[in-house]
Amino acid sequence: PFDVLVVGGGPAGSAAAIYAARKGIRTGIVAERFGGQLMDTLSIENFISVKETEGPKLTAALEEHVKSYEVDVMPLQRVEKLVPAEQPGGLATLHLANGATLQSRAVIVATGARWREMNVPGEREYRNKGVAYCPHCDGPLFKGKRVAVIGGGNSGVEAAIDLAGIVGHVTLLEFDKQMRADAVLQRKLLSLPNVTVILQAQTTEVTGGADGKVNALKYTDRATGESHTVELEGIFVQIGLVPNTEWLKGSIELTKYGEIPVDARCETGTHGVFGAGDATTVPYKQIIIAMGEGSKAAISAFDYLIRTSAP
Ligand code: FAD
Repeated sequence: PFDVLVVGGGPAGSAAAIYAARKGIRTGIVAERFGGQLMDTLSIENFISVKETEGPKLTAALEEHVKSYEVDVMPLQRVEKLVPAEQPGGLATLHLANGATLQSRAVIVATGARWREMNVPGEREYRNKGVAYCPHCDGPLFKGKRVAVIGGGNSGVEAAIDLAGIVGHVTLLEFDKQMRADAVLQRKLLSLPNVTVILQAQTTEVTGGADGKVNALKYTDRATGESHTVELEGIFVQIGLVPNTEWLKGSIELTKYGEIPVDARCETGTHGVFGAGDATTVPYKQIIIAMGEGSKAAISAFDYLIRTSAP
């Protein structure tokens, strides 16, 4: 069996595997798609100390770094179930989609998350060409330009307030009759001079120009049924980040949003199971944060291993 088994090969899982392997303990990593969300990312400008890089390039560097240690890398494998150890120090079992099982004294779950999409024509086509999901990542690319934010929950309204300080104009579109964000955020938003809020708006299409980039967004006014077009350069979709934790239901505690609750040491409520990165309750989902969390989880797991005895 493994001492530490990491599930997920994104920034969090890679960092966890490297930190664990450096302790000289038997380490494995199972990942459906190495790199995780990085593989969907073009330009990365906030990975501190690297002025600019690209997702696939950073993924290749992560993979090379992981493979330079004695880590049992199991790529293209999906984990379907976790059975935690019965007592501290015991073995947890992971069931893979291919029918195999793996056992480990400590498990680090770093299965990340995915952005909920609008599912309208043009969204996929113009992803990274105007359609964006992360204001902290891509906001500065739209300096002085016109953008829309889709979604009037806390993340949408926070994004709109954030972007209003960078871009020329922000149009926030909310599907419902009212925004769901906290009142204090809504007040702040409505006080900004370069923000327009449109309620009862159902986005129907993203369109682009001859340059291959987004040039407008179409929506239907749900009150009147009329169709409208907003000319713009960017669209930030803020209708939810879904953790990849469906496979953990019934095995460990999850929040109502499906996140793995972790404490400052990345411990979950279940002994021997640690969580790291976007799949957890850690605030602000970013690459550098996921790597920090993965590193923390591995040191925590090591701490757990030296304090418990093997069965
Ligand atoms: P992920 O990257 O989601 O990795 C999860 C890993 O788990 C993957 O290897 C996946 O295959 C695997 N996995 C999932 N389920 C299973 C399973 N059941 N079995 C086995 N393996 C599984 N952040 C920045 O800091 N800067 C940016 O510029 C930036 N731009 C972004 C642009 C886009 C388009 C997107 C989508 C995100 C961006 N982010 C950016 C956010 C950043 O990518 C994430 O915060 C980060 O990747 C989270 O790392 P993670 O390791 O927690 O999860």
